[in-house]
Amino acid sequence: MDELSTGSDSAYSNSWISWFLSSKGNEYFCEIDDDYILDRFNLTGLNTEVQNYSQAFDLITDNFDEEFPEEVRASLEVQARFLYGLIHARWIITSRGLAKMLEKYKKADFGRCPRVLCQQQPLLPVGLTDVPYEKSVKLYCGRCEDLYSPKSSRHGSIDGAYFGTSFPHMLFLVYPHMIPPKVGPPDVAGAGRGRPEAEGVGEGVSTAAAALKAERYRPRIFGFQVHEIAKLQRWQEAHRDRQVAHLEALEQEQ
Ligand SMILES: [Zn+2]
Repeated sequence: MDELSTGSDSAYSNSWISWFLSSKGNEYFCEIDDDYILDRFNLTGLNTEVQNYSQAFDLITDNFDEEFPEEVRASLEVQARFLYGLIHARWIITSRGLAKMLEKYKKADFGRCPRVLCQQQPLLPVGLTDVPYEKSVKLYCGRCEDLYSPKSSRHGSIDGAYFGTSFPHMLFLVYPHMIPPKVGPPDVAGAGRGRPEAEGVGEGVSTAAAALKAERYRPRIFGFQVHEIAKLQRWQEAHRDRQVAHLEALEQEQ
């Protein structure tokens, strides 16, 4: 609640949502459009999940003139954040919500992949479950297709259900040209991929192109790849190359 006073005299504190978004630790959240929140259809079922639902709803929509005692206000604030989070999970998989999150992704608001070979690829938030109070938010890298924990504990304690299990995958489904390349520098603008078939239509990203050879780390001793893993990697890569050639041949036939 300490942020309440610090932001109170700025233009940002005009609405509860602006205050919430500008509070430290809430950088992963995007702004939910008013008309989405005000359409009760979008909030179906949330009244059974959130305590003091209607007061929490009034708080986030600034429809609030009663002055509550400090303790009541504090617990209501917790419920309001919870409600905002649950609406957020629904909002970010709508087309307007995806577009807002895409802008944040382009600015790397969710951080960058710590894996060396991912070359600073921006990350996307994801939940491991859609049920609240179970798992904190994780970060998905579209390049190595793996998950990471947020660096800061403020972000690390955010409920993963506020983002949900589908969000990053839905984003790449709707914006296939944003799928990161497996090699070379990250391409967050989604431009200059040299994939004419992916332009305009937003569908046909070729499977073979998507399966481009990913860079992998190779363990070595004095330069020699002597581990069992090296043998396995060579076998996997030969297999992958045959499959990519096969996919390319199939796509050419179409
Ligand atoms: Zn990565």
